[in-house]
Amino acid sequence: MKLLEDRIRQDGKIRSGGVLKVDSFLNHQIDVKLYGEIGKEFHRLFGDCGVTKILTIEASGIGIACVAAQFFDVPVIFAKKNKTKNIAGDVYTSKVESFTHGKVYDIIVAKEFLLPEDRVLIIDDFLANGSALQGLINLVKDAGATVVGAGICIEKAFQPGGDLIRSMGVRVESLAKIKSMTEDSIEFC
Ligand code: 5GP
Repeated sequence: MKLLEDRIRQDGKIRSGGVLKVDSFLNHQIDVKLYGEIGKEFHRLFGDCGVTKILTIEASGIGIACVAAQFFDVPVIFAKKNKTKNIAGDVYTSKVESFTHGKVYDIIVAKEFLLPEDRVLIIDDFLANGSALQGLINLVKDAGATVVGAGICIEKAFQPGGDLIRSMGVRVESLAKIKSMTEDSIEFC
């Protein structure tokens, strides 16, 4: 998606350790019009897949998922990052290793919101090593529901997540795929 690639070139900030900051338009200050274009593009890609729910993870995925959901006319569920040690039996749970913070945490979704008949589109802002996406896929599988695919805003294709998830047979559509980046240059696939 050229609009997103151009915006990343213009306003993205590349940090050491392969981290791209997009705080000025995607996940801190938000360009809502850009979210609208992203949502429209996800709908163009997945609109004919019979999606019944969109699943994302707090916090940065929520806004993008909500705007996209308006095009699909389906509810959004966001997996919560669980802070307590006791996990009640009425939730599905999975482990995620944070790329940006390096910690492992549990994510949870209430069983009442993910049903076996659901066809779920997963949406997230970044795909790096694939841990967040894998955790979300596990929640959907635990519920006996179907993963229709994953819509990702920015895939860092120089990290293994994209290949890993695609090799599991999951359709992954990334709107901007970064082939390589250094502190002063960025190349898209
Ligand atoms: P993964 O689990 O694929 O390694 O990482 C995905 C998650 O880590 C995303 O939900 C995103 O919040 C965060 N993330 C990964 N790489 C970056 C990055 O370069 N910049 C930012 N801002 N977040 C990232």
